[in-house]
Amino acid sequence: MPTLLPRPSILSIEPYVGGESKIPGVNRIVKLSSNEGAFGVPPGAQAAYARLAAELHRYPDGSATALRAAIGARFGLDPARIVCGNGSDELIGALILAYGGEGTELVMSAHGFVMYDIAGRYAGCRVIKVPERDLTADVDAMLAAVGPRTRLVFLANPNNPTGSMLPAGEVARLRAGLPEEVLLVLDSAYAEYVTRPDYDPGTALVEAGTNTVMTRTFSKIFGLGGVRLGWCYAPAHVIDILNRVRGPFNVNAPAMAAGIAALAEPDWVETSVAHNAEWRARLSEGLRAAGIGVHPSEGNFILADFGTAERAKAADAALKQRGLIVRMMGAYALPQALRITIGTAEECTMVLDALTGFMRGAN
Ligand code: PMP
Repeated sequence: MPTLLPRPSILSIEPYVGGESKIPGVNRIVKLSSNEGAFGVPPGAQAAYARLAAELHRYPDGSATALRAAIGARFGLDPARIVCGNGSDELIGALILAYGGEGTELVMSAHGFVMYDIAGRYAGCRVIKVPERDLTADVDAMLAAVGPRTRLVFLANPNNPTGSMLPAGEVARLRAGLPEEVLLVLDSAYAEYVTRPDYDPGTALVEAGTNTVMTRTFSKIFGLGGVRLGWCYAPAHVIDILNRVRGPFNVNAPAMAAGIAALAEPDWVETSVAHNAEWRARLSEGLRAAGIGVHPSEGNFILADFGTAERAKAADAALKQRGLIVRMMGAYALPQALRITIGTAEECTMVLDALTGFMRGAN
């Protein structure tokens, strides 16, 4: 036992595992385990990133002025209400450190995004995981879990890893039922992929001044997971707090240049959304036809339920044999499931063929 110990809550954190991209002995890898965009990096973003190489001796603009202006223009938002981060993960952590901490509670749904639990424990919050209905956040149960110590409520919408989505009316009902001193964080990392019409990423609630913030990312549809770029849209008083706690140069210069260029890439989002909707449906239907349970998803991934942990493990091994890397869900308390990112048409077809063959052999 070392004599130097961190705060006890930190020892309860399981390190986040992600980004794996190798299988020993397999040459051609198809990585469908991190919900990255299907089409790689937008070409304009690659060029913009490369151009910044000649200026790496300079510190970046610590206020991310040009990037915030580009985000504001693209999404119709006031740039003064935006803070950028080194991935939205950084902003999630900053919000929890600023508003949570020892003696406070953070409320999330049972299979909500894992970073809320990790960052909550890091900050010393008591993390309350609320039971769901059909793997979907249950507004009444979440409201019932809120107590006098609750400072933060997190909702990923759509949620990772379940793919579930709460309609705008339900999110508004959640906000309306929370005390004013509770910050509602709407994590809309997968907003662009949603095709249901009753969706709202949270903009209106932020603007209504209800102590609600919205986090977004460049890691998914904008194809920039590797540069680490996210942003938060928030009321002015929360922006002020985030600017106090974030690192002074938390977003690097090539990342900002790539982000601005990605926003300007013609037809990128439209093409990606159409492809994702088509292959999310085809993969879901194909896997269901093969006898695998598939939860309805509004993200760029699906959750495939094999019924037992053993069968999910065997399915994962069958996929790995063909170079297909997906995400096992044991760490999310879903050991019977695999989360599969929607890749290119060819990649989705490979998954479908492999799992159809696996189910034939398994039955
Ligand atoms: N929120 C959700 C729901 C996510 O799935 C992810 C990525 N796994 C993130 C936030 C973090 O994204 P970023 O790359 O911007 O840190």
